[in-house]
Amino acid sequence: MFTEPYTKGERRGWIEVICGSMFSGKTEELIRRLKRARIANMKVAIFKPSIDKRYHEQQIVSHDENAILSTPVENAASILSFVHKTDVIGIDEIQFFDDDILVVCNQLALQGIRVIVAGLDMDYAGKPFGQVPGLLATAEYITKLHAICARCGNIANYSYRKTSGEGEAQIIIGESNIYEPRCRHCYNMEE
Ligand code: ZN
Repeated sequence: MFTEPYTKGERRGWIEVICGSMFSGKTEELIRRLKRARIANMKVAIFKPSIDKRYHEQQIVSHDENAILSTPVENAASILSFVHKTDVIGIDEIQFFDDDILVVCNQLALQGIRVIVAGLDMDYAGKPFGQVPGLLATAEYITKLHAICARCGNIANYSYRKTSGEGEAQIIIGESNIYEPRCRHCYNMEE
């Protein structure tokens, strides 16, 4: 893919990963970083997978409703066609993207773009989620956020699925009606 040379100073691209369990404030942190880039007059683009339709189509909304506009995309490769002359790219719910997301993020960083991705590092079963492990391995900066365990109040890094009637599908979109944050101990206890 041909891209114009990046000419704005000597700044180079890199990847930042914001990961953690549900309710750990990943989207809030993503929004915080993107807003600061905007204050510095940088051109910012925000994407999320179209699978996540919990909220308004055109917005990333963290749980405190601190919203910014985003573009829903069907697959990872389509992000490349939206990033002309962009300084900073935010991608939310990174775990839902197809396997190309790893190559896409690294390609964008190589083009001089600051790539900030946020998402779950583990699914409800405690397994590494999608391409997040690969992104953690290749990123320059990693931030692991924690929630608070809904049972005991300790630091939580698991997303416990409260409903068992949904089978074992890895992806069930939902919020506190379906999931709760749990610490390692409470996550591994039988209900
Ligand atoms: Zn606990």
